[in-house]
Amino acid sequence: MKQASGTEPGNCPNPVDAAVLVDYWLSALAALEEEAVEEHLLGCDSCGARLREVIALAEGVRSLARGGSLRLVVTPEFVQCVQRDGLHVRQYAPPPGGSVQCTVTAADDILIGRLAANLVGASRVDLCFYDEHGVEQHRMPDIPINPGAGGIVYQESMTFAKAAPTSTLIARLVTLDEAGAERPLGEYTFHHTRSLPGPGAWLSV
Ligand SMILES: [Zn+2]
Repeated sequence: MKQASGTEPGNCPNPVDAAVLVDYWLSALAALEEEAVEEHLLGCDSCGARLREVIALAEGVRSLARGGSLRLVVTPEFVQCVQRDGLHVRQYAPPPGGSVQCTVTAADDILIGRLAANLVGASRVDLCFYDEHGVEQHRMPDIPINPGAGGIVYQESMTFAKAAPTSTLIARLVTLDEAGAERPLGEYTFHHTRSLPGPGAWLSV
């Protein structure tokens, strides 16, 4: 293993890939790979500095996610973690092909949709949103999945949800094969009732 000649980022002859640094920080590497990265970091100030940047970024994203205003695919562990920290999480889990009545109140911090689907064998999965006329509104391409998890956990933007009018939103998970052909994995309909503004919302909880 070569030693870095200084502390300036970018002077490592064999820098650890940024994505690997992220996985290292999240403890998502296999043991052997983690050991190799650790050994490299012990001797490389340059990559150590880059790791600190990755940590700052990851923590920034984490606190943004906990702010509840982003649309994100999150992990079940993230939901448990924010619940443990006392945030109020509102969750809906419509069955595939089914629908659910939903809303948010001023007291909610995080809004979660649990979308059950068989992801085994899927390599690329997109999460798409449609209005009640079937017009695509928004697509999250190539979302992170755990093929054995039996579905995904979607965090809807709380800022968006609290302002949304009464409306129907259809979420669809699709997988794409190498040729780019789409295959549906599941469709979930959210009948959203707008949040009640003003003191009435508080009196009803
Ligand atoms: Zn390095």
